[in-house]
Amino acid sequence: MTARRIPALDWFRLAAVFLVVVNHTSPLGDLAPLADFWLARVLARLAVPFYLMVSGYFLAAKDWRGLIPFWRRSTLVYLIAAVLYLPLNLYAGVSPGEWLRDFLWQGSFYHLWYFPALLWGVLIARGLARLGMPLALGAASLLYLVGLGGDSYYGFAAQVPALRNLYAILFHWAGQTRNGLFYAPMFLLLGAALAKRTGRQSARLIAGGFAAALTGMSAEGLWLHRLQVQRHDSMYLLLPVCMVLLFQLLLACNSGRRRTARDLALLVYLLHPGCIVAVRGLARLTGIWALLVDNSLVHFCAVLATSFAAGWLLVRLRPMPPPRDSRAWREVDADALRHNVQVLQYAAGANCRLMAVVKADAYGHGARQCARILQRAGVRDFAVACLSEGIALRKAGIRGNLLVLGWTDPKLAPLLSRWRLTQAVISVEHGQALAAQGCRVRVHLALDTGMHRVGIPAGDTAALAGLCRLPGLQVKGVFSHLCVSDELTPESEAYTRRQADAFRTAVEMLHRAGIQPGDIHLLASYGIWNYPEYHFDLVRAGIALYGVQSDASATRRKLDLQPVLALKARIAHIEWLDTGETAGYGRAFTAPRPTLLAVAAIGYADGLPRHLPERGGRVLVRGVSCPMVGRMCMDQLLVDVTQAPQTAIGDVVTLIGCEGGASISAEEVAQRCGTITNELLSRLGTRLPLLRRTEK
Ligand SMILES: *Cc1c(COP(=O)(O)O)cnc(C)c1O
Repeated sequence: MTARRIPALDWFRLAAVFLVVVNHTSPLGDLAPLADFWLARVLARLAVPFYLMVSGYFLAAKDWRGLIPFWRRSTLVYLIAAVLYLPLNLYAGVSPGEWLRDFLWQGSFYHLWYFPALLWGVLIARGLARLGMPLALGAASLLYLVGLGGDSYYGFAAQVPALRNLYAILFHWAGQTRNGLFYAPMFLLLGAALAKRTGRQSARLIAGGFAAALTGMSAEGLWLHRLQVQRHDSMYLLLPVCMVLLFQLLLACNSGRRRTARDLALLVYLLHPGCIVAVRGLARLTGIWALLVDNSLVHFCAVLATSFAAGWLLVRLRPMPPPRDSRAWREVDADALRHNVQVLQYAAGANCRLMAVVKADAYGHGARQCARILQRAGVRDFAVACLSEGIALRKAGIRGNLLVLGWTDPKLAPLLSRWRLTQAVISVEHGQALAAQGCRVRVHLALDTGMHRVGIPAGDTAALAGLCRLPGLQVKGVFSHLCVSDELTPESEAYTRRQADAFRTAVEMLHRAGIQPGDIHLLASYGIWNYPEYHFDLVRAGIALYGVQSDASATRRKLDLQPVLALKARIAHIEWLDTGETAGYGRAFTAPRPTLLAVAAIGYADGLPRHLPERGGRVLVRGVSCPMVGRMCMDQLLVDVTQAPQTAIGDVVTLIGCEGGASISAEEVAQRCGTITNELLSRLGTRLPLLRRTEK
């Protein structure tokens, strides 16, 4: 079953906070006590573990690199909430010493126990995760079992004198075992473990498992309730099982985030005890206590409604960042990128890996975002142009081999090894200088087979073998680059074959000298299109990965690639010009007839070629192809939209991409300006936010 894709994790936060309110108000308390127990004391116990798991999931997804900001942010929220509830602490006569002790461990107000549990728990979970997931989960399970003995199973545990004494000591220091030591690490680590799982199971199967586990936990809860052994009712034996299945179910249909749902859930969580106090205050003032408080269902509804209303009000008041599609933006189609990976990997064949070239911010497609998509699609080899690009990708969590294709100052060798980057050796001197820095650097040797840009002369076997034997270098590969693989003239083809022969000979010579040169690679995108016979161990796909050709030249092989990027902007202004009126700098446009002129909020500072209007550039508005006119400005662009008279301010114009049945390709735009798509796309400015194209 393919589940419908929704922001399931963020939406479920709202369901969870609903359960928390249920837990704190017992809606069926006076109507059906047993049903209420099940609802508020069993089912509602799914809520907090879910929050902990989401935290663990997102922290581990980024290899815990966000831990410190997360900790700081959560502490700030806790502090604000603690201050908010301080008047109620004072009203209840809590002493400063007691308040501080509660603040640090079990929460300064009853619902705030979650924050110290989260803050301590996440530190413990992080520490345990260093042991590796199986050990960490084992340790967290032991802690959870201890917690269980002081919670739902206390009646059993207390029958053993040694355990009774142990718990007496524990409870002397803290009121409960549901805390940052015995409770939170378990769920944080379960979330973290799921972040590292790949492969998707059938949603239907998981749903069935969850239903079974929940039934089991309900039976467990009702049984313990009947035996009256529970000291508290937060922890059940089957709770972790339920949570794993529930979380997997949500992951199976999760797509994207919903900040509003996230913020609203947090606000309702923080505010609802205050709303309970407010509802009671109102009941006392108006004399409708019997209805508003004694009737548990009405009480629950009143608290729920006021909490969500207050939360919604605050959500509306929070400062919003500008929407990312308010002016001009790039859209990246993750499905197209994944499709291209498959096509290229298939074209490369079974014994050849695809190296994704993500230099120049992934040719303007956003290197971090693309590399993450590629990594999830199974790509293990990446290439960038320079050291800083490599480090940025490592910081973004990209693992696997990462080759720096361009020159890196040998003095920076320690950084290469610190970030586990592989450096291309572009000359004999470069290799020797890298080797002399005192840290073993992983390298690929670049061979010059006739391009005469960079590289060690392919015929210089002695020099190559010498580099391979330097103790300061770990040679992991050998490669070369073709300079006319995009041209199919007999002359260019002969040149390419000479390059390939020189490369092959050099590799054979190394083998004969007893050297294992590692990964052998020669082809970039046009090599893949035109020379499949030279695949070797890796192919380096740049422009092809993004689903476009550099120009309109013919290729020997046809690959079914899809363009990944679309470029869009909004209409900022519209006006009618009379015949003969002029517009823009230099009065370069004269209206040949009454003309509806629109201004699109994008210009050459966003990376568009300035000459595009005079070279016949066009945009799509409401499915109609309209010409760019006049001179392009730094941040704005004039368009004649007379053919699309319905055009309104705020409409989206497409500069690259499809709209309705029409489309404008990157190849077309590049060709108009006498350049190649590689240049056009890689120049798209960072002022253009990157949006994921949402699946339709
Ligand atoms: C940029 C680059 C590539 C990728 O080139 P495309 O033609 O975009 O596939 C491959 N190899 C080297 C050495 C490069 O510099």
